[in-house]
Amino acid sequence: MAKDTLAKLAKAIVKHKIKVIDLTQRLQPSTPVIQLPPPFAPTKPFESSLISRYDDKGPAWYWNNFACGEHTGTHFDAPVHWVTGKDLEDGATDTVDPQRFIAPACVIDVSKDCAKDEKFLLTPKRILAWEKEHGKIPKGAWVLMRSDWSKRTDPALFLNMKEDGPHVPGPNADAVRFLVEERDVNGWGVEAVGTDAGQAFSFEPAFPAHALMHGANKFGLASLCNLDQLPATGAVLIAAPLKIAGGSGSPLRVLALVSDSDD
Ligand code: MN
Repeated sequence: MAKDTLAKLAKAIVKHKIKVIDLTQRLQPSTPVIQLPPPFAPTKPFESSLISRYDDKGPAWYWNNFACGEHTGTHFDAPVHWVTGKDLEDGATDTVDPQRFIAPACVIDVSKDCAKDEKFLLTPKRILAWEKEHGKIPKGAWVLMRSDWSKRTDPALFLNMKEDGPHVPGPNADAVRFLVEERDVNGWGVEAVGTDAGQAFSFEPAFPAHALMHGANKFGLASLCNLDQLPATGAVLIAAPLKIAGGSGSPLRVLALVSDSDD
């Protein structure tokens, strides 16, 4: 039966009955990276330097060197990224279970709320309201928050740094706790530069989308885009980080499989 399912899936992809939606931002030197206040060490933005381009250094080939932090652009947060997940044996980019790189996605659309309130916080109440309409979030699913934040193409507006820290939407601590403890999700994904709200340094616990998710061996996805092209339920995400030895995360290409019709 599984064999037949896989053959049908392959056929549906080839025939475009199942569409592949790219949820990935372009990786380039202008890609915004998270800004930390001193004394914390900053991350490197994306850098690229030419090795050769059909020239004396390589007459028939073109290639570049690139460098960046593990958490640059559209990227994966592995559980060891946070101190709460530091001892998980299967919590680094090279040790996480690859079976979990493919999982269904639930998309909670709070874009209208975020347009009105840059510091909008997703609550358990709001998640339950979503479930009333779309059904219970299944165990092992990605939960993605559609904020339309990726449409902020100006890096300054995307980071939205103010005197009291970033004004960026995200989940409150209770929402994260609910997704971890009551729904046993695969992970939590957002369109913003990091998985936590801009003001999450003041939450209890601080940075709950990191502290609680990673402590429970759950993943994170940040700087996603095109969430407005996904249905609330039914999409399947393919999100596999680079197999960096002991890595805390990595830039990656996030793809969503979406059925074109109900048949
Ligand atoms: Mn990250």
